[in-house]
Amino acid sequence: MRKSRGGTILILLFFIALLGAALFLYQSPLFERDKPQITLDKTIHWNLKDPIALHVKDESGIKFLRITLNDGSNSIDIVNEVYENKEKEINLQIKYPRTGFLSQSSNLVLEVEATDGSLWNLFGGNKATAVAKILPDTKRPTVFVLTNSYKITKGGAALVAFKAYDENLKSLYIETNSGKRYYPTPYYKDGYYVSLVAWPRPDEKFSANIVAVDMAGNFTKERIRFFLQNRRYRESTIKLTNNFLSGKVTNLAQMYSRDFDQMKPIERFLFVNQTLRDENNKNIENVSTRPPKRLLGEKKLTPFYPLKNAAAVASFGDHRKYLYNDKLVSESYHLGLDLASTAQASIVSSNDGEVVFARENGIYGQTVIIDHGLGLHTLYGHCSSLDVQEGDFVQSGDVIAKSGSTGFAFGDHLHFGVLVQGVEVRPEEWMDARWMDDNIYTVLKNAKSLIDRHEP
Ligand SMILES: [Zn+2]
Repeated sequence: MRKSRGGTILILLFFIALLGAALFLYQSPLFERDKPQITLDKTIHWNLKDPIALHVKDESGIKFLRITLNDGSNSIDIVNEVYENKEKEINLQIKYPRTGFLSQSSNLVLEVEATDGSLWNLFGGNKATAVAKILPDTKRPTVFVLTNSYKITKGGAALVAFKAYDENLKSLYIETNSGKRYYPTPYYKDGYYVSLVAWPRPDEKFSANIVAVDMAGNFTKERIRFFLQNRRYRESTIKLTNNFLSGKVTNLAQMYSRDFDQMKPIERFLFVNQTLRDENNKNIENVSTRPPKRLLGEKKLTPFYPLKNAAAVASFGDHRKYLYNDKLVSESYHLGLDLASTAQASIVSSNDGEVVFARENGIYGQTVIIDHGLGLHTLYGHCSSLDVQEGDFVQSGDVIAKSGSTGFAFGDHLHFGVLVQGVEVRPEEWMDARWMDDNIYTVLKNAKSLIDRHEP
């Protein structure tokens, strides 16, 4: 028999075509081999109230999805669906089934099975599965106030001591009406906390709640009952003269603004009093906002007295309004106490602490900020020279700087500020032994004896 050469070539071509077709299909998106991606935590604390978010994604589209909840003996289908449109992305909010069929006390398991629309696996598609262990938790955290400062003054600080407990506590903070959060410090025994809070000077109203949230999203909100003491602060109107605008204002604008050359004198002032002030305040807030690392020293704080034999030359809280050509152009709050004695006088830290800031800060000039624990910080501005560095630990009585007039200052003086987790408060309170006893130390002492009564 004579072999046909043409026939052999034909058979060869047929196989090449078959291989090509197989290769084409193998690489075709119709036959892709990527499994759907299921985003689901391995362990979920569930309050059985808020839905669990589930996200499934697949390039060739999801064709089938099944979600079941299993309590060990029974299983319920929550989703069992074929998607004719082959969704590329499915976002589901899984709710706890209202059947009462599953026992809440046992450990539940959530099983997810997703199959995509690929023709791979003999047209069956790629299958992905995910399992989450569900820890049911329907109990709210326990929160109760032990004791707190009787009152809080507008622009001032107060202390609260409380208990907060949950097996799976996730976050704990005090939230005020303006949305500011204060983070408490553990105190004395497990589950007990203390925190300073502040009523910011510019705010007309104040209220504060302790908020505890657990891993399952159960939360408790407990109001702190303070007597609210309003306080009137000074309002002053300052007329801007060309002479004033050509002095320090011009120097500072030149130092800190890139657009100085295009600025009119009044624009230089607005830059210094607003843009630069905001930026400098942000720096202060950043270093003094961090959640407290430690309690106030075991040593009782002594009243602050940073400058010997000084006279107060401007008080905390002054609301300053600036007029230019009889028009209101800017306003600001003076959030420190200005003290003056002799030029380049020694500034001391009256209490132990860690230096968290020691550098130039715009309108505040050469500035030192010290962390005294419990979220309490003191600030020393307009210094002529600094005697400490960031990271230094100072002891009460240490000289930290010399007074001066760096930054937006006229004449040698100290701008003394006190901050509670980033909020400027009345320094006068922290310079008053009686106030500190009534509002801080008595509260801490009472809290201790109450805790001993609760946990003997
Ligand atoms: Zn000042």
